[in-house]
Order: sequence, then structure tokens, then C-alpha cells
Amino acid sequence: MEKRYRIYSEYLKEKYGTKVYKIPINLPVTCPNRDGTVGVGGCIYCGEEGAGFENLSNQLSVQEQIEINTQYIREKYKAEKFIAYFQNYTNTFLPLKDFKEYVYQACQDDVVQIAISTRPDCINNSYLEVLNDLKKEKGIDIAIELGLQTVNYHTLKKINRGHTLAELVDAVLQIKQYGFESCIHLILNLPWDDQDDVIENAKLLSALRVEQVKLHSLYIVEGTLLGKRYQESDLQMIAMEEYIERVITFLEYLDPDVVVQRLIGRAPKEGTLFVNWNTSWWKIRDMIEGKMEESESYQGKQFDYLNGKALRKFD
Ligand code: SF4
Repeated sequence: MEKRYRIYSEYLKEKYGTKVYKIPINLPVTCPNRDGTVGVGGCIYCGEEGAGFENLSNQLSVQEQIEINTQYIREKYKAEKFIAYFQNYTNTFLPLKDFKEYVYQACQDDVVQIAISTRPDCINNSYLEVLNDLKKEKGIDIAIELGLQTVNYHTLKKINRGHTLAELVDAVLQIKQYGFESCIHLILNLPWDDQDDVIENAKLLSALRVEQVKLHSLYIVEGTLLGKRYQESDLQMIAMEEYIERVITFLEYLDPDVVVQRLIGRAPKEGTLFVNWNTSWWKIRDMIEGKMEESESYQGKQFDYLNGKALRKFD
């Protein structure tokens, strides 16, 4: 089947000439939206484990985590190159000295890139300078993954993100000055968002010239505020068919150069009240790809809105 969107694994293969795998690193960090710095309780969907349900213990050193993970992946997938992915919680929410130590520890053999997951309000020049020095000294690429979830700043308030859209724009512009890649995380089935928000998500990322995007589907964890509302039937989740439509619309409006890391998220099995309509993530991905094929849809099909669109009548 013809590829109708820019797939991350293929992009990595083009860039590094071989299969590249991301290996998660779990640091003993927290998040300013949980410890009271910008908020308490965190985003309404955030479980105790953050996003790191597939991670090793944060009591292991960075080197140990890399060693264990690379050995496993080398054997299982014959991978040769790796991305050290600081995944869980907010990985720049650390004293600068500690942050520097951790990222330098990740510069191991066959690690070609360091990816740092963080919040848009946790990026500044001092941290970017550390990464820039590391890039120059070690010749390792840098990517920053930023959780936005939606461009709808009313929804951002409802999910208690603790930042608005402006912080995301600021972070992306700062990251660009250093020439690092940005990857924006979005959730396309937030119950408060509609198709217009989905389109605006794609348009904003394209206008900001971000390099990558990772799409998630909202999952609901027991014991969270969202879980409580779900159990009280105070929450209407969209149907899977609508999620599929939303992803396709998003891709059609997205700049065809943007690399797509994922079309749908995964979730832990334990303690999860709602996830992916009880369907495997890869089945939903196949449905999205099948529907795109059927309807002759492709990434960028509706990407015609930048660069002074209204002036084209004078061409
Ligand atoms: S920013 Fe991430 S780690 Fe922090 S509360 Fe929200 S989801 Fe949890």
C-alpha cells in the first residue's frame, strides 16, 4: 500500500541509513504542574506513572537503562542505532547542573540522537545552551518533544495543563534558534474539542514549521480527575470512527514535510477505564491507512493556506 503520510521510521532510516529505535529513559523528576510550581494535581488525565508505563525504574542510572534497553532491542529487532528518549514527566524541570549530567550520560555508543520530552513552559536558553554544547562536542542530534495536546486554549484550561498556547509558540521559536527539531504531542479526541480544533492544530504546527508530530488518543486512568468524571458519566467520548476521521482531516491539513511519529497512542492495561475503544492501536492505525487509501486522502491534501493565500489571485 502506498504511504500516504510521512512515517517516522522511514524518515529515521533515510536520515541515519539504518533502522533506529527509541529507547526510553526514566529520570527521578516530577512536573511543575504536579508539585505546585504552576499547578497541583497535574493534567486531569495524568496518572501516577506519567507517560512512562513502559519504562525501567528511575532508580537505575541512565547508562544502565540504555544498556538494558539497547541489548534487548539489538537482539529482538537487529537495531544498530538508537535515540535516547527522556520520556517521563518533565525532563527539563531539573536544576541545570543535574540536567547536564543526565544528558551527557546518555551519550553512549550508537546513540545518534537525544530526545527530551518536556512542557512548553520548561524551555529556556540555559537548557538549550547545554544541549547545543553537547551537540557540538559529541556530534549527537537533539530533538525536543513538547506536550501541547490542543491549540484550543479553552480546552487547555479545562484539562488543567497549567499553560496556554503562547508558551508553546515561544518554546518552538526558541528551539528553532538552535536548529533542533521539535515534535509536538497532540490528543485528537479531547471531549471538548471538535473538528475545527483538529484543523487548527494542523495549521498551527504547519505555520510554526515544526518538524514532527505525535498523535495520541485520550485514555482514562482510574484515580484521576478525568477517571472520576468518566465514572460519573459526566464525559462523552467520541466514537472510534470519528477519531479516524479526525486523524485523516488533521493529516490533510498538515504540511507534507512534517514527520508523523504516531497516529494513535498506547496505554497501560492495568487501571485503565477507557482506551482506544477496546481495539488494538495497530488495528486502528490500519483502519486509518485503509480509509486514506479508499478516499484517496494524503498528508497535505488541504495544505494551501500559508504564504499569503489571498494574494494568489494576482499571480
Ligand atoms: S504535564 Fe505531563 S507529567 Fe505533568 S501533569 Fe501533565 S501529563 Fe502529567
